[in-house]
Amino acid sequence: MDHAPQLANELDLSACWIPFTANRQFKAAPRLFTAAEGVWFTGTDGKRVLDASAGMWCVNAGHGRPEIAKAVEQQLTTLDYAPAFQMAHPAEFELATRLAAMAPAGLDRIFFTNSGSESVDTALKIALAYQRARGESQRTRLIGRERAYHGAGFGGMSVGGIVANRRTFGPMLPGVDHLPHTFDLARNAFSKGQPEHGAELADGLERLIALHGDTIAAVIVEPVAGSTGVLPPPKGYLERLRKICDTHGILLIFDEVITGYGRLGTPFAAQYFGVTPDLMTTAKGLTNAAIPMGAVFVERKVHDALMQGPEHVIELFHGYTYSGHPAACAAAMATLDIYKREGLFERAAKIAPVFQEAVHSLKDVANVIDIRNLGLMAAIEMKPREDGPAKRGYDVFIDCLANGLYARQTGDIIAMSPPLTITEDEIGYAIDKLGAALKAVA
Ligand code: PLP
Repeated sequence: MDHAPQLANELDLSACWIPFTANRQFKAAPRLFTAAEGVWFTGTDGKRVLDASAGMWCVNAGHGRPEIAKAVEQQLTTLDYAPAFQMAHPAEFELATRLAAMAPAGLDRIFFTNSGSESVDTALKIALAYQRARGESQRTRLIGRERAYHGAGFGGMSVGGIVANRRTFGPMLPGVDHLPHTFDLARNAFSKGQPEHGAELADGLERLIALHGDTIAAVIVEPVAGSTGVLPPPKGYLERLRKICDTHGILLIFDEVITGYGRLGTPFAAQYFGVTPDLMTTAKGLTNAAIPMGAVFVERKVHDALMQGPEHVIELFHGYTYSGHPAACAAAMATLDIYKREGLFERAAKIAPVFQEAVHSLKDVANVIDIRNLGLMAAIEMKPREDGPAKRGYDVFIDCLANGLYARQTGDIIAMSPPLTITEDEIGYAIDKLGAALKAVA
């Protein structure tokens, strides 16, 4: 670097309104990272902070990968951009072919977006278009789930189940309904891996079908709910959901924005669970977060149903200026090369049991009421403090950060999803810091 990292107190923070953040609180005591390499961030004070969350569940191959930077540079100096509509460039076809080969069987038609939110809105629109194309145009309802996060677009917000994300913005999409969430502290606290109890919650879909008849187009779920605190599906739950969807002509969408690209030790959660959805939304780990990009995986049958009518007519009136952006394609292909060359998905599967035992070692620490995990995802949930929800969680988050650990906080939950490159020693470091913070914070 040819200049020293700028100190937070030398910056004018007023113009930039940062997302999903308490801006006034943040600007009073800003938290900035200025560099990153491997599993480590560097803060403005020059100190190293272990990234136990792969940024935001996205830097799966670890930070600062020169291969990705080089691939992007080469692409930008060769072809920086090609129009996304009615024109194309080679890299998007090459990438789609590679992704199709990694996907669960049959999900081999790929639509590119720029984020998880766009992937979700894209999948919902494809589902609606498909139902219409096959003569089921009464199927206009979309079913989400309580405690789901599907991004910040109106579609994703509507099927999402986070009250705070919705209530400010008035009515959501019409015709949306929600399944019950699968979190059951009384029966499943401190489960290692998938919890035993709750497969029957999938029957909530039967009830919605009884209520709404044949008007449901699609159901969207995160195979493992991430943002609301790592909620692995109860054993048998996803299988049951799949069966009900099949029986009733409803499309099943897995939102794999977090679980995609190795988080559970398989390319996608669909393969981990052995349950294949009809559409799959991805983003984040696709490019190791170096360049924004998302991809929607679509079952051939769904795609083909839309490839009808006169051939000069656009089949799906949808897309983005930056769909399949050359630089993003280059970043994605370099990322997939790293995953393959270094066997990172297999590595994640191998180290997951170590991670599991490490996080569960915090079970008896004061105020810890639950620990949940699957693959390289885990959450430690604390009892809310009397002065209000999320206060203890925030204090633990800040204490961790001050002592060299970054882990995401959501309410009174600390969620961890480290890069798939993390070592046993680094897991040990993270657990030591988190344990110390849990003990230090009243
Ligand atoms: N879907 C899921 C499951 C997510 O976890 C997220 C983000 O965390 C999104 C969608 C939205 O992704 P983005 O922030 O890239 O729009």
